[in-house]
Amino acid sequence: MSLDGRPLVVVANRLPVSKSGDAWRPSAGGLVTALRPVVEQVDGHWVGWDGGDPNVPKRVDGFAADLHPVAMTAEEVDDHYYGFSNRTLWPLFHDLLAEPVFDREWWRTYERMNIRFADAAAAVEVDDPVYWVHDYHLLLAPALLRDRKPDATIGFFLHIPFPPPELMGRLPWNDELLDGLLGADAIGFHTEWYRENFVRSVRRSRRDVTVSGDMVHLPDGRSVRTAAHPISIDVDEFSALAVADETEQELAELREQFANRKVMLGVDRLDYTKGIRHRLQAIERLLTDRPELRTSFAFIQIAVPSRDDVEEYRDLREQVEYMVGHIHGRFTEPGHDVPVHYLYRSVPKTRLAAYYRLADVMAITPLKDGMNLVAKEFVTVQDAARDRPDQDAGVLLLSEFTGAALEFVDDAVMCNPFDVQSLAARMAQSLTFDADDRRSRIARMAASVREGDVFAWVNEELESVTMAERARAEVGP
Ligand code: UDP
Repeated sequence: MSLDGRPLVVVANRLPVSKSGDAWRPSAGGLVTALRPVVEQVDGHWVGWDGGDPNVPKRVDGFAADLHPVAMTAEEVDDHYYGFSNRTLWPLFHDLLAEPVFDREWWRTYERMNIRFADAAAAVEVDDPVYWVHDYHLLLAPALLRDRKPDATIGFFLHIPFPPPELMGRLPWNDELLDGLLGADAIGFHTEWYRENFVRSVRRSRRDVTVSGDMVHLPDGRSVRTAAHPISIDVDEFSALAVADETEQELAELREQFANRKVMLGVDRLDYTKGIRHRLQAIERLLTDRPELRTSFAFIQIAVPSRDDVEEYRDLREQVEYMVGHIHGRFTEPGHDVPVHYLYRSVPKTRLAAYYRLADVMAITPLKDGMNLVAKEFVTVQDAARDRPDQDAGVLLLSEFTGAALEFVDDAVMCNPFDVQSLAARMAQSLTFDADDRRSRIARMAASVREGDVFAWVNEELESVTMAERARAEVGP
């Protein structure tokens, strides 16, 4: 492994643990799964917000890293997390799908919290570690950490898109954020597009840098490596989940419930970037144009509650629920089930896998999405269950505005969700592929996911951080 036994200090907004009842457990998130084998091999540390609980233990069974909690008051969480991170940066980095709020008080708190995280990371007592900072909550942290540890090896990964400079430039603190990131030795993005956007932003904001290939050279002699490393999933975990006994049981129930109907599935956090409203508009159009589908088709939307302290998310929920009610009112036929099944909740993993297996079409229609792991999970589960009785392969309907689109462009049905009429046509088309074609498309997409799973992603990222550092050592001080 590229760390060569060196300690790893992860710096992320949240600690990798959560409490259920009295017991602390590793959280179910992808990053936690991805890093589990790494922290078992090296001296692992994780700096993150304590979630408001002052009693986070130093270690939790099942995740071999020391935990270093960062405390924030409720007001600081409001301004740093809900405010600047999720009402300024999130909409700005997702192409202004909502109006970003520019609030100087939030910005000051964002700066202060980044200082607090950088201080906590610098205080971890380890010898020559690799620091790995994550995501948009901590864009200033690499440079702050560099101030505290000038010779440190620092990597950063951005889990959301990076916007074009024309949009990024609207932010009053554009220059500060770019300088914050440039404190790292290596910066990873999901795609080449986001990487290029970042480099273009840096060129626009700083006249004193030069760029050669994927390297940004700074006047102080440091160089920053930029890279595109698409994040992925634990393929073995989802392949096993696909055919687990519990999944089979859940699937049997769902098949009974949806007997004789084609099923289209949506699985998203309830976020305005996910294109759920456009999806529902397209369903309405589909059911208008194809009346026979009103009784032979069902659309299931799993909407996972998200950020419901934020006004835009509460509004979105109201609109989505209004639209579902509207579709029911218009298209439910007497004596038949409703055409849209809307679940506002998260579901256990085996149930999620059962839904993935049930789906004839997986509708992934974000207006902008850094990657979209649901797409990778769907093709993996479908492929792993290919030999199970009655398992007919499904179709992936995928927005061109997702990071995953680059990987699946040849085998998914690609769509532009902004064009509701064509989205409805793509939905209809998705129901027409023959079984062999569907199966081979799923197989090719699943093979591609298997080639670059989440463990490969961790290796590539850490490799790029340590490569950047080696290059620095060769050049000398
Ligand atoms: N997911 C979940 N609970 C659910 C439904 C989905 O935890 O009830 C997971 C899903 O398995 C996937 C993640 O949520 O790993 C969503 O990741 P994605 O990249 O698609 O979108 P994000 O929510 O990160 O924007």
